[in-house]
Amino acid sequence: MDSKDQLETAIAARRDDLIALTQDLIRIPTLNPPGQNYREICDYLKQRLEAAGFTVDLIRATGALADSDTYPRWNMVARYEGGAAGDTVHFNSHHDVVEVGHGWTKPPFGGVLEDGRIYGRGACDMKGGLAASIIAAEAFIATYPRFAGAIEISATADEESGGFGGVAYLAEQGRFDPARVQHVIIPEPLQKDRICLGHRGVWWAQVETKGRIAHGSMPFLGDSAISHMGAVLAEIETHLLPLLAGKTTAMPVVPPQARQSTLNINSIHGGEAEQAEDYTGLPAPCVADRCRIVIDRRFLIEEDIAAVKAELTDMLEQIKAGRPRFDYEITDLFEVQPSMTDESSPLVQSVGQAIERVLAQKAEYVVSPGTYDQKHIDRIGRLKNCIAYGPGILELAHQPDEWVGVDDMADSALVMALTLAELLPTA
Ligand SMILES: [Zn+2]
Repeated sequence: MDSKDQLETAIAARRDDLIALTQDLIRIPTLNPPGQNYREICDYLKQRLEAAGFTVDLIRATGALADSDTYPRWNMVARYEGGAAGDTVHFNSHHDVVEVGHGWTKPPFGGVLEDGRIYGRGACDMKGGLAASIIAAEAFIATYPRFAGAIEISATADEESGGFGGVAYLAEQGRFDPARVQHVIIPEPLQKDRICLGHRGVWWAQVETKGRIAHGSMPFLGDSAISHMGAVLAEIETHLLPLLAGKTTAMPVVPPQARQSTLNINSIHGGEAEQAEDYTGLPAPCVADRCRIVIDRRFLIEEDIAAVKAELTDMLEQIKAGRPRFDYEITDLFEVQPSMTDESSPLVQSVGQAIERVLAQKAEYVVSPGTYDQKHIDRIGRLKNCIAYGPGILELAHQPDEWVGVDDMADSALVMALTLAELLPTA
C-alpha cells in the first residue's frame, strides 16, 4: 500500500474516535469571555495525548491580559519525538469559543451528531480542527513509528480575544522559535480544499467627539457631542467607505467582498448611560458632552499602517475645518500587520500536494479576512512557515447551530497526516 492508502485506512479505523473526541471537546464549554474551563480542556487533552505517547506541558499565561486566579489562561503543548532528528511540525488550535448567542435549535454544548454533522459552539471554530489534527498525528505515528523529526500539538487560550494569554504568550516563551519549530498548521475552519496563507491587517481605534454639557430642555446652551459624531458618521458613509472600496488587493482574500479595505463601527456610545445596572429610573436630561465610537479598520498588504491612520486623521481635520466647535481625539486600541506565507514554502507545497491526492482537485490558496493566531507566530515567534488549514466552513463560525462535517474532518485529517509523511521522512 502507498502512504495515502495506509494513512486512509488508519484514519478510517479512527472515525468513531474522531467523532467522540470532537463531541467531548464541544461538551467542555470554554467560553471566552470570561475564559471558562480552560484548565479542564487542557487536562482532558493532556490525558489523551500522554496515552498516545506525547510529552505534555500545561502552561498558564501568568500575568497575561485577562489572566486571573478566577479565570486562569491555561495552554497545552504536547510533543512527540520521532526516531531520528528532523523538522518539527506543530499543529496549533485555540480551545476557546465565543458566546452562544440566540437562535440555536440544538444544545450549544451537546455535541449532537446528526446526518454526519456534529453541532455545537466551537464545532467548526475550531474543536473539529483540533480533533482532526490529533487523529492525524495519532494515525501517522501508529503507521510510521520510526519517522524522523517531531510533532507538536497545542491547544491555546484566548484566540477569540486576541491570543495574548495563548499563542502570544507561548511565542514570547520561545515556543515558536524557528530553531525549535519549522512548520505550523493552524486548523482554523477554512475548508478542507483551501490553504490559508495569512490575513489582512487590523487597526482598532476609538474616536471621541467633544461637546459641552447643559440642560436637555435648553440644548442651545450646550454643544452636543452626539451631533458632532453624526457629522463623522456621515463623512465615513459618504466619503471614506467608497474610498476604501476602491482599494483592492492582490491578496486572495475570501470571501471576495473582503478583497478590499474595509471599516466597521464596532460600537457607539454618547451621553449619559441610559440605565445604570442597579437602577430602573430614567436618565437625567443632559446635552451629551462626549460621544465615542470604536472603529475596526482592516487593511491590505499593499497599505501602510501609518497611511491608514493618516487617512482618518485627515478626514477628521477636514470636518473640523468646516464645522464650528468640532473637536476630536483618536486613541489607538490594537493593531496587527498583514501576514502572508510564501506559496513556495515546503509546508504550503506539501499541504497542496496532499489536498490533490485526497480530494483529486487543486488546492485553492486564500487569505483570511480576519486575523488569527498566525500574527503572533509571525511577529513574536518570527516564524514564517505558518498556514491555516482545517475542516469546517468559515461562514458558520460564531453563528447559531454551528456544525462541522465528519467527512470533512476525516478528509482534512488525511491531508494533515500526508503532510506529516511528506515533511517528516518515514523511510
Ligand atoms: Zn477560530
